[in-house]
Amino acid sequence: MIVLRRYMNNNLRNYNYVIGCEDTRQAIAIDPLDADVVLAMAEAQGLSIKLIINTHEHHDHIGGNPGVKAATGAEILAYEAARCVIPDVDRGLQAGDRVELGSLAFNVLFTPGHTAVHLCLLSDRDSTSSGPNGEPVLFSGDTLFNAGAGKCSVPFGGDPDTLYDTFVSRFQPLADDVLLYPGHDYMKNNLAFAQTREPGNDMIQYWQDQVSGCEPDDMPVMNLGQERSYNSFLRLNQPEIREVLLQQFPALGLGDRDVFKALRRLRDQW
Ligand SMILES: [Zn+2]
Repeated sequence: MIVLRRYMNNNLRNYNYVIGCEDTRQAIAIDPLDADVVLAMAEAQGLSIKLIINTHEHHDHIGGNPGVKAATGAEILAYEAARCVIPDVDRGLQAGDRVELGSLAFNVLFTPGHTAVHLCLLSDRDSTSSGPNGEPVLFSGDTLFNAGAGKCSVPFGGDPDTLYDTFVSRFQPLADDVLLYPGHDYMKNNLAFAQTREPGNDMIQYWQDQVSGCEPDDMPVMNLGQERSYNSFLRLNQPEIREVLLQQFPALGLGDRDVFKALRRLRDQW
């Protein structure tokens, strides 16, 4: 599988993805924002975009749909229940569906919380859509970020309880070697936030040092095992995270859900 990732150089720090089948040169554009950039990415690799898949309805994830569709005739795929908020969806998806194109194949995960309707794409292990060592690949949109989690503010249609449920039910079961491709480049900021939550975690400083000189297009592709070593939202039962939270919120409940929601609230204000 060919994975092209491009930083969109905008305030929202979006990544756009074009993923291609090496045999047929057919490709999928995920969450296109700038159609011209996405079309040029595909053309430079001799790829022909046949499908557009939107993880959710936010304008920075669908803005390139019309331009890519007009230039390529690609079908627009999104979650069935997102038809009312994403224009011109050709095919509605449901949890458990598979999207196939050439040798590409992805499972559709229902992952609400950032928005009421959100999907992630997960490939199988040891498949033609896995990473270089057979690892499954996860395109996570605005749910799981490097060192962070998606926003859940009300104007976004989000809900932190729902996002917590998504993390537990969809991401917790995934293996450590699953490669993560999120919808935005927030890693440096998120690591700085994680540092405030868990000052004694050496892995946070280690990865801050590793990425400090990286431009967004050069950021490393992390796997879930690495994320589990520094991402506060995947480390809810770590004693230090709880101790630091309790200093600020002495009445905080100590369930994982309470910790997740407190972290999300703090990250909103940070
Ligand atoms: Zn979003």
